[in-house]
Amino acid sequence: MSRNYESLHDPNAEYTMRELSSGTMGVTATRGGDRDIEITDVQTTMIDGNFPWTLVRVYTDAGVVGTGEAYWGAGVPELIDRMTPFVVGENPLDIDRLYEHLIQKMSGEGTIEGVTVTAIAGIEVALHDLAGKVLDVPAYQLLGGKYRDRMRVYCDCHTEAEADPEACADEAERVVTELGYDALKFDLDVPSGLEKDRANRHLRPGEIRHKAEIVEQVTERVKDEADVAFDCHWTFSGGSAKRLAAALEEYDVWWLEDPVPPENLEVQEAVTKSTVTPVAVGENRYRVTEERRLIENGAVDIIAPDLPKVGGMRETRKIADVANQYYVPVAMHNVSSPVATMAAAHVGAAIPNSLAVEYHSYELGWWSDLVEETVIEEGYIEIPEEPGLGVTLDMDAVAEHMVEGEELFD
Ligand SMILES: [Mg+2]
Repeated sequence: MSRNYESLHDPNAEYTMRELSSGTMGVTATRGGDRDIEITDVQTTMIDGNFPWTLVRVYTDAGVVGTGEAYWGAGVPELIDRMTPFVVGENPLDIDRLYEHLIQKMSGEGTIEGVTVTAIAGIEVALHDLAGKVLDVPAYQLLGGKYRDRMRVYCDCHTEAEADPEACADEAERVVTELGYDALKFDLDVPSGLEKDRANRHLRPGEIRHKAEIVEQVTERVKDEADVAFDCHWTFSGGSAKRLAAALEEYDVWWLEDPVPPENLEVQEAVTKSTVTPVAVGENRYRVTEERRLIENGAVDIIAPDLPKVGGMRETRKIADVANQYYVPVAMHNVSSPVATMAAAHVGAAIPNSLAVEYHSYELGWWSDLVEETVIEEGYIEIPEEPGLGVTLDMDAVAEHMVEGEELFD
């Protein structure tokens, strides 16, 4: 039989089990009693948030449903539809085996990095919720237990006058005093008005002075009340990034994020090693295989994986384990709904080197309405003791905020 698209994706094709599964599904893994259950379906619904959040639900013949979330991106629901036959009939408690099976089966679409990884992550997060419910334990327990009862959250901040240092300082003060956060992040790739040509990635002296002014005003305003990070979104040349990081050393920022484009590891490493300003990188990398190279080469001071983008809860745990061998803290990038945010909090609770989890939706009034529970309070997430992730979708809110044309879960 020749390998073509149809046969590669035929779950009943005999050779796909033998040749493509590397034995992950060829082995039998059975359970007794209440744990002898099977996955019956996987469904998605997309929410029109400040990103198009893709919620994922895994259904079983035991009536237990797991809820997860994939990182946003075009084609994610389609990819999840395509991989659903590969998990239907399987026991959802075999999280690792099913994950590796999906990585293997979807390798034609590309499972080293990219949108297929994030689609698989959506199922993987839902499996953790599901397994926790079946076993009657919180998701963090599946990851080895807790280091902490609550997870610190940092608030990604924005102002209308994003290039005005005083406006940034005013917003920092408001978020600390009114919203209760003790950890913040501001964008530092904002225009100063002095740019000549941003395509060449070079920073003029006045641009660096402008960025240092933002950093100075924000950090002096909040003083020790909050840690403040600054994000550059992969904008600058290696040389300019070194000059910027050096100029910020006197302010002792929490971290400087993504100062150079993500592709070239050597440039990233040179920038990070040039300065005592802590450099955080990681949200644009996939799986432990890619994040590992940043850590092992000393190209990061802080690793910043995005849980539903990088590959899920166990993949993030694996990254944290590698990082911990190099004494590198983990600050999880996060632009997700409350579902993946809570998944990040469970992983953050279960690893020693957890620094914080991002919150990126403070301007969106209804973010927390998507679930019945309170998620973030005074800048922290209390780790739930309920089985699974400990969040319950509010289906009325989900229906209200679905992307037009989406269907509500069964
Ligand atoms: Mg970032």
